[in-house]
Amino acid sequence: MIRERAYPVDPWHIRETRLDLDLMAQSESVFALSNGHIGIRGNLDEGEPHGLPGTYLNSFYELRPLPHAEGGYGFPESGQTMVNVSNAKLMRLLVDDEPFDVRYGELRSHERCLDMRAGTLERVVEWVSPSGQGVRVRTVRLVSFTQRAIVAFLYEVEPLDGAARLILQSELVANEQLPPTSKDPRVAAVLDHPLQAEEMLEQRSGGLLVHRTKASDLRMAAAMEHLVETPGRHAITTEGHADWLRTTVACRLEPGQKLRVVKLAAYGWSSMRSLPALRDQVGAALASARLDGWDGLVQQQQEYLDAFWDHSDVRVEGDPEVQQAVRFGLFHTLQAGARAEKRPIGSKGLTGPGYDGHTFWDAETFVLPALTYTQPSAAADVLRWRHSTLDLARERAQTLGLQGAAFPWRTIRGQECSGYWPAGTAGFHIAADIADAVRRYVQATGDYDFEREVGLELLVETARLWRSLGHHDRHGRFHIDGVTGPDEYTAIVNDNIYTNLMAQQNLMTAVDACKRHPDLARRFGVDDEEAASWRDAAASVHLPYDKELGVHQQCEGFTRLEEWDFENTPPEGYPLLLNYPYFDLYRKQVVKQADLVMAMYIRGDAFTPEEKVRNFAYYDARTVRDSSLSACIQAVMAAETGHLELAHDYLGEAALMDLHDLHQNARDGVHVASLAGSWIALVAGLGGMRDFNGQLAFAPRLPSRINNLDFSLLWHGLRLRVNVTADEVTYSLRNGGGSARLTLMHHGKEIEVTQVRPVTMAIPTAVPAGPAPTQPAGRAPVRRATTH
Ligand code: BGC
Repeated sequence: MIRERAYPVDPWHIRETRLDLDLMAQSESVFALSNGHIGIRGNLDEGEPHGLPGTYLNSFYELRPLPHAEGGYGFPESGQTMVNVSNAKLMRLLVDDEPFDVRYGELRSHERCLDMRAGTLERVVEWVSPSGQGVRVRTVRLVSFTQRAIVAFLYEVEPLDGAARLILQSELVANEQLPPTSKDPRVAAVLDHPLQAEEMLEQRSGGLLVHRTKASDLRMAAAMEHLVETPGRHAITTEGHADWLRTTVACRLEPGQKLRVVKLAAYGWSSMRSLPALRDQVGAALASARLDGWDGLVQQQQEYLDAFWDHSDVRVEGDPEVQQAVRFGLFHTLQAGARAEKRPIGSKGLTGPGYDGHTFWDAETFVLPALTYTQPSAAADVLRWRHSTLDLARERAQTLGLQGAAFPWRTIRGQECSGYWPAGTAGFHIAADIADAVRRYVQATGDYDFEREVGLELLVETARLWRSLGHHDRHGRFHIDGVTGPDEYTAIVNDNIYTNLMAQQNLMTAVDACKRHPDLARRFGVDDEEAASWRDAAASVHLPYDKELGVHQQCEGFTRLEEWDFENTPPEGYPLLLNYPYFDLYRKQVVKQADLVMAMYIRGDAFTPEEKVRNFAYYDARTVRDSSLSACIQAVMAAETGHLELAHDYLGEAALMDLHDLHQNARDGVHVASLAGSWIALVAGLGGMRDFNGQLAFAPRLPSRINNLDFSLLWHGLRLRVNVTADEVTYSLRNGGGSARLTLMHHGKEIEVTQVRPVTMAIPTAVPAGPAPTQPAGRAPVRRATTH
């Protein structure tokens, strides 16, 4: 587990000042680089020691058996697992014949630094070999945001104490040995050696490997090339084998002289393209990278990130630890989505093998809000990917006896891959989460072409799903029974409020979009009667309420279930799902993650302020946050209900999820939803941003320790900047010229902002918030303010 302050506080860098082998795997996730297409874990250049080696290509997966102890109709029979592809990170150094290995000799210093402005990971090491030869090694790596297929490495080494013979072996290795990832031998067997060699080409200073997977039938190519600079003579050779390529550079240097090697690697994969086509594709990518060289790639990376931070940075004054963590979160959000380009965003991005590389609702509900308002084209691309899987979702709906489209709870390619249906197939809310992401994107951008090409069909097919999944009772009320909401500690329930309210919005958004595009709607077979049936269902959605307690029920009957005995649940009993049977969790009032509380944020228009206060207090006392998707949403509702210090605490938890390894599994990859969620906690939480019915609204208020919050977001191409202090807010437009105006709400008051006329508004005094909500025994978040 990463101890507190494993990485010193610094606004723009994540620095590791010494190598701790126990933290290796976590640091590999934290230091993973990705552009959404390629991901490389922060493994040491020399490959060993390692926690989990990892190199991934978005959507490059192998099929594996999905064993069920007892089968059943409609259970998915095959799963998909992200494959560890050919590793281009390996660069082994020999100093006078002794391998550079941090476990031997003397490690004088070892520092790594992720520079979030430059988009590079730098490592500087001073090491003395067992026979006493000192060397200084400096390496820098990047996964290019501008050249999607390219990973580049700089390797510099110089002898310190006397002349030394240096041999650098730079490799590309397929099917590298991995620590076992599955306890099931059938699954482990498939993933043990997932790549079959198809072609190997060796050239003097590099070469190429082409492989394919056995069952999923995907082909990948990886190529590498080296540019060497040394003061004297050097020898360079390349040898190859079906599963590895090795370029060796040998030289002899005096102290003060340096060997400098730039390694360029290119990746590509395809389910359709021929071997020659793929080979040429990576060859071309290498040629393009060579044209720009190391300096060019570094400069392009810098320019890309300058632009990103210019319009996406969130500045938080008063809590430097959160400031660093929020930037780290934004950086990983960008890394997950920047160049995914019509591919999914996995719950770990491309930073580790956790959750088999699957995408969940995490993408649409947690990552897309941040992307929609900062990098809208990346958000649109994820939805285009969903759209490309519509046929599979229609098929799944048919299998389940439903209409429209049933999107998978977890997947890489589009087929359902969940082996546990109560928390998989039954999580139908994913359909409404996708529809919500469509709604948000179209509202924020006004991109009606996207709505025609992609959005409308997604809305229509998901609306059809809800209409067929739900039913009207004899009083006309619309119910959705037998589903699982976000809280996975309560499953197969009737009328989960989150699901019902999200379905309601899904149905109405579909009705409105059909009105905007009547011709297209007709082409999708939507007639007046169908649209009317969506309206009727939406208008009569049932929301269970407990009159006696004065709170909504997360689902029908929730508030009459037995209470969980939190007092007698020891700290090591968490996460509960690993220590208590589901049957017990399901029949008690214990909440894994924000569910009704989530509904009060996304569908805040469906609750009164008083209901929000009462509901939040009731559910916060029963929410254990065993999912990393919870804290950011609790931050939002804590802020809305006036509990600003608690909002700050939850914000800290969401943002520090991986830097502090709060769930003790950062080794498997970072928690992208929580990291992107820290943006939600700041912008929607402390900034109070909402977009109900297409109306942009803010209600900022800061907790005591944060004295300034500054963020920017995009609305219909206009860059709005919001700067919040303890008692006032300034809204300004950063583009648009004299004619552009933006109407927004500030604490319920309409204001108009233009580029020449920023508007400063006072923050109204808060209504007393009432007693602070409590959490289950031992589950309160870490306090961020000294007084609370
Ligand atoms: C959560 C889900 C989430 C998944 C992937 C689970 O523990 O309960 O809501 O989608 O993890 O992050």
